[in-house]
Amino acid sequence: MKNMFCHGEVLLDRKFWEAVLELLKKYSNTPHHKDGKILGSMTTTPHPLAVYAYLMFIHTNASDPVIFKEIENMMNDIIYELIKLYHGGESGILTSGGTESNIAAILVAKKIFPNRSNTVIAPDTVHVSVDKACDIMNCKLVKIPTNGNPVNASILEEYVRKYNPFAVVITAGTTERGLIDPVKGISELAEEYNVYLHVDAAYGGLLIPFLYRHGIIGENLKFYNGVSSISVDFHKNGLAPIPSGILLFNSKRYSEKICYKAEYTLYGKYCGLLGTRPGGSVASIWILLKIYGLDLYEKIALKTYNIAMYTYRRLSALKELKVFKPILPIVVFKHKYIDYIELLQRILSKGYFLYKSPSLEALRIVIMPHVEKSHIDDFVNIVREIIQ
Ligand code: PLP
Repeated sequence: MKNMFCHGEVLLDRKFWEAVLELLKKYSNTPHHKDGKILGSMTTTPHPLAVYAYLMFIHTNASDPVIFKEIENMMNDIIYELIKLYHGGESGILTSGGTESNIAAILVAKKIFPNRSNTVIAPDTVHVSVDKACDIMNCKLVKIPTNGNPVNASILEEYVRKYNPFAVVITAGTTERGLIDPVKGISELAEEYNVYLHVDAAYGGLLIPFLYRHGIIGENLKFYNGVSSISVDFHKNGLAPIPSGILLFNSKRYSEKICYKAEYTLYGKYCGLLGTRPGGSVASIWILLKIYGLDLYEKIALKTYNIAMYTYRRLSALKELKVFKPILPIVVFKHKYIDYIELLQRILSKGYFLYKSPSLEALRIVIMPHVEKSHIDDFVNIVREIIQ
């Protein structure tokens, strides 16, 4: 046992490794993205370079820029790239993902506008983490019914007038359908009514600017004047290991609002909701940006979009299926007669994992970077068999 904790001889001990592998293998039989059967989750296999960098910096704490100043330098480089991508912003923090980013953004908003009504306005397509945020902060979340469409800016304006909220949250790439709320139009309202606007781009943040540039979608994502913060997850379409979220602010004044004195540390403060956080995540995003630049994400956006359209066409050719045309690389479908939960059960029984789009009583396929056309071909054959 003593040797377990030192690094030298034990690594060369074959028996020791056999024992370790035996223990791990018992639990290693999880589904894997490369099998092409995880088709509903917004997770993917991280890029090998990102994994390498993560492991190299696995000992580092991104919350301690005094001991690990290299991580802070890398983080600054990442923020710089994102400022280019979103044409603005000033500062940002590493988060564990979209959930933490949304909670942190709402906390910042509450501190910026302490005298507003204790209300957040959001379309009903908003991610559940916004409900969570309001639960934690005891604020009222007023949801605008959207009937499965991007929110209408004039309707949102009525809500802002009525409730005088401290924050509005919209989504650039909704969880269930990949819809993009009208960021530009709503940013103008946010500016006019002087309200904090957070754009949750956890899923769409690395897709939208590229698909817009190629004329595939009509809505862009950027720091228009009224946008206060944007969240984006690199563990979704960014090929970084979980957890790798970034929350960007359009002003340093905002990020400072979630820095808390921690005099016992060398830095003297902790910024963000978490304390210790993985410097490995920063290193993994950084190396991908250094080696490939944002071009990597442009390629992924185009690849996943094309496969989503392929999926859409293949599924649409099956009898009695209603398939929603993808906006971002999410394909939602339902059967005209088979209840979607029943259909899901049948698909699960064949070893495929989809998620649900309950608001549409349908099933969701997310085309993540690991998904190939051949996976879709196999999947379509299974669906054909199941519904016949
Ligand atoms: N926001 C959106 C739009 C999402 O789709 C998700 C997850 O699917 C999240 C936030 C939460 O992200 P995470 O699970 O990384 O916290």
